[in-house]
Amino acid sequence: MSDHQNRQDNPDNQIKQPLKKETICVQSGWKPGNGEPRVLPIYQSTTFKYDNSEQMGKLFALEESGYFYTRLQNPTNDCVAAKICELEGGVAAMLTSSGQAANHYAIFNICEAGDHLVLSGTVYGGTFNLIVTTMKKMGISCTVVDPDASYEELSAAFQPNTKCVMAETIANPALVVLDIEKFAKVAHDHEVPLIIDNTFATPINCNPFQWGADIVTHSTTKYMDGHAASVGGAIVDSGNFDFARYPDRFPGLCRPDETYHGVVYTERFGKGAYITKATVQLMRDLGSIQAPQNAFLVNIGLETLHLRVERHCANAQAVAEYLEKHEAVAWVNYPGLPGNRYHDLAQKYMPKGTCGVISFGLKSGRSGAERLMERLKLAAIVTHVADARTCVLHPASHTHRQLSEEQLREAGVAADMIRFSVGIEHKDDIIADLEQALKLN
Ligand code: PLP
Repeated sequence: MSDHQNRQDNPDNQIKQPLKKETICVQSGWKPGNGEPRVLPIYQSTTFKYDNSEQMGKLFALEESGYFYTRLQNPTNDCVAAKICELEGGVAAMLTSSGQAANHYAIFNICEAGDHLVLSGTVYGGTFNLIVTTMKKMGISCTVVDPDASYEELSAAFQPNTKCVMAETIANPALVVLDIEKFAKVAHDHEVPLIIDNTFATPINCNPFQWGADIVTHSTTKYMDGHAASVGGAIVDSGNFDFARYPDRFPGLCRPDETYHGVVYTERFGKGAYITKATVQLMRDLGSIQAPQNAFLVNIGLETLHLRVERHCANAQAVAEYLEKHEAVAWVNYPGLPGNRYHDLAQKYMPKGTCGVISFGLKSGRSGAERLMERLKLAAIVTHVADARTCVLHPASHTHRQLSEEQLREAGVAADMIRFSVGIEHKDDIIADLEQALKLN
C-alpha cells in the first residue's frame, strides 16, 4: 500500500461523520498530505519501483498489497474507484477500461463455462449482446426475463447452475425502472448475487445496495465523466453477499487459485474477495484497465456529478412535459411523468429524480423520427447519452440495429423510438430547438 493510501486511512485526517454525497463528489478519493498536489495526480507510469526483490515477491504472492504494474492497479485509478465506492456505499471498487468491460468482469468473476445467469431483457443493447452472444461462446448461458415479471415467473428462470442475476436500475433506452427489491429477493432466495448496472440513475439518485443489490457496475463514460471525454467503467462490491457460504457454487472465490500458490480469496480477503479476484486475476489475464488519464477525467467529472445530475433531471422533466402536450408527439416515456408506468417505482427508488434521458415517438412514425433528428440544431445525433450536451439517437437504426424484431420488442425498443438525452443547457433553448424541428415535421 502506498504512502498516500496510508494517509487516507488515517482516522485523524477524516471528519467523524458520514459525508454527504455532494462532499464525497468533491473531496473523496485523493486526500493529499502536506505539500502534495491539491489535485489528484495522474500516475503516468506502467510500473513501480522497489528497493528489494523480496518485497516485490510478496506483492506477486498477494502477501502484501502495493502497486507493481498498471495493468492490474494504478494509484490514480484507485483514488477514483475509492470515490465511486464511497458514493455507492460499497466496501471495494475497481475501474475498468469501459462499461462493457465492467459488466463482463462483474459476471465473469463468478461465472465459468457451464454456468448460467438470469438477465433482465431490457438491458442496454451492448450488454445484451455481450451476454447473449459473446458470453455464450465462452460457455456461459442465460435466461432472459421480463423485468416486470412476477416473483414466481422470475423464480422459474433459475437453474441449478445459475450464478447471478443482472439488470439495470433504469434500462437504456427502454427507461424501465427496476423493482430492485423484487430482483434482490428472487436472487437471494436462489442463493446468488444481484448485479445492477447503475449507469443511468448514478449514485446521486439511487444506491442499489440500499435495496438489496450486491454488486453495482457503471459505464463511467456517461454521467460520471459527464463531458463525453473518456470511455471507462467501474465495479463496486457491497460486501454483503456471503460467497463463502456457497463454496461449491463459487469455486473461483472459495477454492485455491493455483496461479497465486493456492490463495483462497474469501479466506485471505474477506469482504474484499470479489474485487481482489477481479483485479489480480481478471485484470492480470484480460487487461481491461482504465487509462490513468481517463480516470483523472472521470474524477473531474465526479466533482460536479451532483450538480449536473440535478440539472439533467430538471431539464428532462421540463422537456418530457413539453413533449407530452405537443400535437405531433404520439407518446413520451419518462419515469418522472405522473402517468408513466414506472412512476411509482421511480418515486420509491429515486425520489430525487431518475435520469436525463427521455424516449418518445412521433405520430409521423419512423420516417418522422429521422426527419426530426436531422432538423434539430442544438441536439446532435451522436452514439452517446448522458453528457452535458443534449443529444439524440434512433436506437432501432443505431445502438440496437443488430437486434431482431423480437429482441427489439423484448428490449422495449419501438421502431419509432427517439432517444433524447437532455443536457444541462438552459431548458428553454432545448425546448425551442424541439419546437422548430417539430414544426417542420
Ligand atoms: N451500461 C449502460 C447502461 C450503458 O448505457 C452503456 C453504454 O451506453 C454501457 C453499459 C457500456 O458502457 P461503455 O460504452 O462505457 O462500454
